[in-house]
Amino acid sequence: MKNFKRVPVPPLNHINDYPMGSSCESFHITDQNSGWRVFMPVINLDKCVSCYRCYLVCPDGAIHQNEDQKFEIDYDYCKGCGICANECKINAINMVKEDK
Ligand code: SF4
Ligand code: SF4
Repeated sequence: MKNFKRVPVPPLNHINDYPMGSSCESFHITDQNSGWRVFMPVINLDKCVSCYRCYLVCPDGAIHQNEDQKFEIDYDYCKGCGICANECKINAINMVKEDK
């Protein structure tokens, strides 16, 4: 898994200082939150058409595009909510039971 860089959080004094959704790297808003995940989303890259929908709706900004323009999930920050799988219109994301 790619190791994403921690982004220091600046002082938040005004509403405009708050980072917005998936425009931020993982960990900009949350700490690692994968410990209680029961189902994990898995992207089927053979089906994915790179529409960005999952990227935009993930509440934790845990979905990114890698250097090959493929979408990937940072499982350290994915809480397994399933929103991305629910919103993918071509069902390219499957929720798979964790085995841990
Ligand atoms: S919503 Fe589905 S098709 Fe769109 S980028 Fe995400 S996985 Fe790919
Ligand atoms: S399951 Fe939830 S937290 Fe994990 S990548 Fe999908 S939308 Fe983001």
